[in-house]
Amino acid sequence: MSHKIVLLPGDGIGPEVVAQAERVLRHVAQQHGLTLDIAEADLGGIAIDRQGAAYPASTQALAREADAILLGAVGGPKWDTLPAAERPERGLLAIRADLDLFANLRPALLYPQLADASSLKAELVAGLDILIVRELTGGIYFGEPRGIRTREDGEREGFNTYIYRESEIERIARLAFTLAEKRGGRLTSVDKANVLEVTQLWREVVSRVAADYTNVDLSHMYVDNAAMQLVRAPKQFDVMVTGNIFGDILSDTAAMLTGSIGMLPSASLNADACGLYEPVHGSAPDIAGQDKANPLATILSVAMMLRYSLNAPEAATAVEQAVSAVLDSGLRTGDIAGTADKVVGTVAMGDAVVAALDAAA
Ligand code: NAD
Repeated sequence: MSHKIVLLPGDGIGPEVVAQAERVLRHVAQQHGLTLDIAEADLGGIAIDRQGAAYPASTQALAREADAILLGAVGGPKWDTLPAAERPERGLLAIRADLDLFANLRPALLYPQLADASSLKAELVAGLDILIVRELTGGIYFGEPRGIRTREDGEREGFNTYIYRESEIERIARLAFTLAEKRGGRLTSVDKANVLEVTQLWREVVSRVAADYTNVDLSHMYVDNAAMQLVRAPKQFDVMVTGNIFGDILSDTAAMLTGSIGMLPSASLNADACGLYEPVHGSAPDIAGQDKANPLATILSVAMMLRYSLNAPEAATAVEQAVSAVLDSGLRTGDIAGTADKVVGTVAMGDAVVAALDAAA
């Protein structure tokens, strides 16, 4: 069976990091006997320039047929003067909505080799391995009614609606439990059930779903406490599941525990396990075209793709181990380099990961 993959390199450093990730993907696929059918399409600023829309119909047609999509990054100063509705970033929102990617998976994994890059003490974060599962298509970011209106007394007020249906909570909870089963067997559901009814329902539904996953140890935590615990003793967490707004904030907090934006992969999945895989970082226009970008976040996104959409866990582990071996060897791109490290460029880092895959085979 051939897996249909669509590459969306995007803007800025996107094409540079996706090129290295594609090499790694093709290489590991060959090693593990996976057949890939890889196509490339436009998303973001480049799509606006070439086709007049950030998520053009030709890209949509390919994306809807794909088993998995690898995205670089979108956006840049060239398009910053466009009205908000026409910006490259709209392409990202459009593809997420189009494919109903309701689950955002953000690992916060600290490679021991990079423990000094964290803002926390090395002993608090060494060995950190958290997976944050964020609901991505519901909650207060999408709830209606919303807006800014003028009251009868003439004062303006802004309002949003924080709303979740039981089915929305249940599907993200089931996914989080399934992931926890495959990892450390612990799931922390984060809510604000002491204040918000919508998260009382969240807690109730998650607790009900837990009955089907007796091998997972479920706990509940208020979001304010979760934020504190993440910076006090982050290693207590295995998998965390939460709604859209809390997940937005907590996943960025957890990301910073690992110290480098150039190392962070992510996945957004739908009910068919089709996924959009992308580094957490943006298009980094300040270093684009200079062979300086760290491709490891995108390469680690390929590992997630292999694990979650292509059902190839051994190949996923091989990529992760190759990245670890390269870090062991002391190679670093500029963003993660200490004074004693050997600094290499984007392409050389890709070369090193491919060589490490060969060395381990
Ligand atoms: P950014 O992540 O692009 O860059 C922030 C800083 O981190 C910069 O100094 C950059 O050089 C550095 N950096 C980022 N990725 C790196 C990598 N792989 N290797 C080495 N250094 C790296 O964020 P920004 O500057 O706020 O945004 C730049 C553009 O990217 C904007 O147009 C923004 O809208 C867009 N953006 C896109 C996405 C996305 O496509 N998912 C996400 C965030 C921002």
